[in-house]
Amino acid sequence: MPIVYRHKTAMPCRDPEERRHNWEEVAEGYSVERAVAEAERCLNCQDPVCERGCPVNVPIRDFVRSISLGHFQEAADTIRIRNLLPAICGRVCPVEHQCESRCVLFPHQDAVGIGRLERFVADWERAHGTGGETTAPTVWRDQQVAVVGSGPAGLTVASDLAQLGYPVSVFEALHAFGGVLRYGIPEYRLPKEIVDGDIAHLKALGVEFVRDVIIGKTLTIDQLIDELGYSAVFVGTGAGSPVFLNIPGENLKGVYSANEFLTRVNLMHAWAFPEYDTPIVSPRRAAVIGAGDTAMDAVRCSIRLGAEEAHIVYRRSEVEKGARAEDFERARDEGVVFDWLTLPQRFLGDEHGWVRGIECIRTKLGEPDDSGRRRPVPVPGSEFVMDADLVVIALGTNPNPLVPRTTEQLDVDRHGCIVADPATGATSRAGVFAGGDIVTGAATVILAMGAGRKAASAIHEYLQREASSDAALATEEPGQGG
Ligand code: FAD
Ligand code: SF4
Repeated sequence: MPIVYRHKTAMPCRDPEERRHNWEEVAEGYSVERAVAEAERCLNCQDPVCERGCPVNVPIRDFVRSISLGHFQEAADTIRIRNLLPAICGRVCPVEHQCESRCVLFPHQDAVGIGRLERFVADWERAHGTGGETTAPTVWRDQQVAVVGSGPAGLTVASDLAQLGYPVSVFEALHAFGGVLRYGIPEYRLPKEIVDGDIAHLKALGVEFVRDVIIGKTLTIDQLIDELGYSAVFVGTGAGSPVFLNIPGENLKGVYSANEFLTRVNLMHAWAFPEYDTPIVSPRRAAVIGAGDTAMDAVRCSIRLGAEEAHIVYRRSEVEKGARAEDFERARDEGVVFDWLTLPQRFLGDEHGWVRGIECIRTKLGEPDDSGRRRPVPVPGSEFVMDADLVVIALGTNPNPLVPRTTEQLDVDRHGCIVADPATGATSRAGVFAGGDIVTGAATVILAMGAGRKAASAIHEYLQREASSDAALATEEPGQGG
């Protein structure tokens, strides 16, 4: 009998033409029937190799089995043992490179839709009002911990330490919490009410959230320790510093870094201007330079801002693009035009300083470069001009430099990443820990959470050691004086 290739149970999505015009979530999520059908594809392997692909070791086999039995609350409780943010991870984790890439079904069939099932369980739990409760501490400790940055790394540290009974304060430079989950990933991919819900649970657990405080400017790490009395600090400031092309015309009006563009749209609600104060170009023809996840987010936002035509301009070919297949396909369905093998040379402006076009040159692929991808080589004589009244540069980001620059004895590597022990997050400064994108460079939500989890455990051990050496000193003191 021929082997039948079985696909994942399909994820219902809103119609591409309709979704070009609003910000509602594109993927609608599994129904109960679809979730059970998908969970039934799992073989309940004795050795669940999928779990080794998960950076926070979610007990995948067990939660998938609970779904197949219709025990959804049990599934949710199982996930939450290891993952604090399942509704977020179920939506944005690059599962095809993590857990699902290890699933034994693949390549004979599609891997089990682990990400889709995780999202289903988290949404089911929220809809039934039973979810998201974190464990209340059973002891209260007096050593305070400061967390710098409220992205997934910082939120994980805050949650884990608060559950261990530590008073935790999260200091955030922006006026809203969540890091890239808030300002980078658009509403149609990750509704912000989900991020709000997760932060509300941390507040309920006693975590203090302090906004509009830039560590390195408003306060330094040294002040947190020496003046405000924090016994340990976790730095999770991410990699939000944009990379530019450094070509003529980059300062024209209407040319944005992806970071600024997405922050204006997602955090500052520029799409609702003038109801909100932040303006943004209303594009007719948008061009986004780059082909990673951030580029896909920017180009799809430009469509929702009204662009009649939206282009991805990339100097390599489709094969080398960094974007997830799912986001790439959704962008294509929404009408994005892909200009592969195209290298911008300069931006062209009008007499008022607004961008009006891009001079580009075609490329062909040469030998692999340091990244292992084939190097784009310009084709002489192939220059042409592309119209554009909105340009977004989405070439990647570097670590935010402010904290390393303003903190003595905090080692950084040649990329500006804080040097931290991968197993503990310990840095070159005693009592200062770091994790997430500020250590690894731009990576993923789940890796940032994994780093936060390891750092929280190491901070707990460090503080216990400090407390016991303080206690030892205190008991020695009478003897010393007598
Ligand atoms: P961040 O999320 O960057 O959070 C850092 C926080 O620290 C920010 O809130 C920042 O304002 C704050 N901060 C910075 N400096 C200071 C300071 N001096 N003082 C106080 N606060 C400070 N990953 C995925 O897994 N799936 C995706 O689909 C995905 N899509 C992405 C889309 C975009 C547009 C971008 C930019 C990234 C995406 N990523 C995705 C990557 C992922 O979001 C990051 O790897 C992850 O958020 C890193 O978490 P973090 O906690 O280290 O830092
Ligand atoms: Fe199920 Fe695949 Fe994990 Fe096996 S590897 S337990 S089939 S999800």
